[in-house]
Amino acid sequence: MKLYNSLSKKVEPFIPNVEGRVSMYTCGPTVYHFAHIGNLRSYIAEDVLEKALRYEGYDVKRVMNITDVGHLSSDADTGEDKMLKGAKREHKTVMEIAEFYTKAFFEDMKRLNIKMPDVVEPATHCIPEFIHMIEVLLEKGYAYRAGENVYFDTSKLDNYFVFGSQNEEEQLVGVRDDVTEDSNKRNKNDFVLWFTKSKFEDQALKWDSPWGTGYPGWHIECSCISMKHLGDSMDIHCGGVDNMFPHHTNEIAQSEAYLGHKWCNYWFHVHHLNDRNGKMSKSKGDILTVSKLIEKGYDPLVYRLFCLQSHYRKPLEFSFDQMDNTAVAYEKLKKRVMDNVRKAGNEPADEAAVSEYRNRFIEALDNDVNTAMGLTVLYDALKAPLNAATKAAIAKSFDEVLGLDLTVEKEAPEEKTDADPELVSYVEEMIERRKAAKKEKNFEEADRIRNELLGKGIVLKDTREGTLWEKQG
Ligand SMILES: [Zn+2]
Repeated sequence: MKLYNSLSKKVEPFIPNVEGRVSMYTCGPTVYHFAHIGNLRSYIAEDVLEKALRYEGYDVKRVMNITDVGHLSSDADTGEDKMLKGAKREHKTVMEIAEFYTKAFFEDMKRLNIKMPDVVEPATHCIPEFIHMIEVLLEKGYAYRAGENVYFDTSKLDNYFVFGSQNEEEQLVGVRDDVTEDSNKRNKNDFVLWFTKSKFEDQALKWDSPWGTGYPGWHIECSCISMKHLGDSMDIHCGGVDNMFPHHTNEIAQSEAYLGHKWCNYWFHVHHLNDRNGKMSKSKGDILTVSKLIEKGYDPLVYRLFCLQSHYRKPLEFSFDQMDNTAVAYEKLKKRVMDNVRKAGNEPADEAAVSEYRNRFIEALDNDVNTAMGLTVLYDALKAPLNAATKAAIAKSFDEVLGLDLTVEKEAPEEKTDADPELVSYVEEMIERRKAAKKEKNFEEADRIRNELLGKGIVLKDTREGTLWEKQG
């Protein structure tokens, strides 16, 4: 396999540390809100990479963290405690918020056919590991205490900007946020390893440490959690391209200072999802989620196909027109495959042809995970003069990586009559309350009700005939 490596800025042959085995780390979500489909684009691309490696016979171990420590998603001691803000908004405790949105994230993964990583570790489970790494960094002289916090000293490194200067603009933004706010730093790129003093006095989660009661900086969790489960060196670290700086840059700085050697060989970065106006993100107000796509009548796998149609290293422009086109393409593709599955009966597949197409598919994946090319190989197979059993076998094989449920008969929605009558009356009452709230234009309450139901695995779908519901899982 050949992969683009953000460290060398080149497509390189992929050579794992241990032959036949791949250790892989994914930066997980910050769980104070539903995941935006833009973030989920990264998880889809990473899922395809993992499945491609497994398809080619590698034994993959993949680890992901869950950022459930308060203040996060900014390196700086600025902004607001997003977990606390979420908790206040929803009248819950911070840990309830984290648990709720962690479950919602897993639900989104399931709907998008994203395999659960082998290990998923919440940051709050690893505080002693963070403290240990910070102690070692202090001992080795890579960290210092100032203003009751512990900072990483970036001036101790020969090359802090390991990803180069191609995102100077982003780097400047990141630095600007910090530098005006924190006069304790010796160098403008230094970052906090442990806070005991922060802008937000009411930080909800705190732990004892040798430096006082406080909480960890953002970056330390990925270094510690990956080393805990993957050891002192790993093959592939994944994430969105917006994590390159400062997050991944800081992860590398502290990990390699701690270890005294190179930490991760390949950096796999997935590009943004844009709309016509630029990058789509949580901070822009309206959050486009998987649930919203379902409400609008899209199968979540249509969004997966939409992502697979383009290369992960290109910005992808989202629009509902594009989703409509992809929905039509998905229906057609699935129908063609299912027709072959049904027609196949007991006739034997042409194994030589299956293996030939399989090799072509692997060639596409080996070309820096070129999923669009992989889809073309599938369309070629469906057009080729092969019998139905062969076509069905090829589609089934490719779908191990594509994850589009191409050979899975769509399940009929669960009959309400089979459902627990108590659940039915509860859901129906909630639907009525949501309808009343919408009528009064209280959309916040209407959304809250929808989210409460979603937390119980119940998905609402607004149709012309009224609101329908479905219990998932
Ligand atoms: Zn990370």
